[in-house]
Amino acid sequence: MTDGNETGRRLEIGERAACPSCGRRSVVPVVFGMPAGDLMEAGRRGDVVIGGCVILPGLDPTVACTRCGWSDAPAGPVDAEADQA
Ligand SMILES: [Zn+2]
Repeated sequence: MTDGNETGRRLEIGERAACPSCGRRSVVPVVFGMPAGDLMEAGRRGDVVIGGCVILPGLDPTVACTRCGWSDAPAGPVDAEADQA
């Protein structure tokens, strides 16, 4: 049985799902923090997406597409620039 308490953060590197946006199997885990060594190399190969040092509150994607840039980040604070239509 799988433990439903996990928040889905533990994706295995190399496991790729189809992107809901572009349909390609280019969805990889997003890794935050200071990538070093193997992780940096994995990022270059496109096996993971490096989230970088900036972590936005509320925007916390766990996976992202390397093709179209889609990520599963919940809809966070939207820029209030939608005034001009
Ligand atoms: Zn995509």
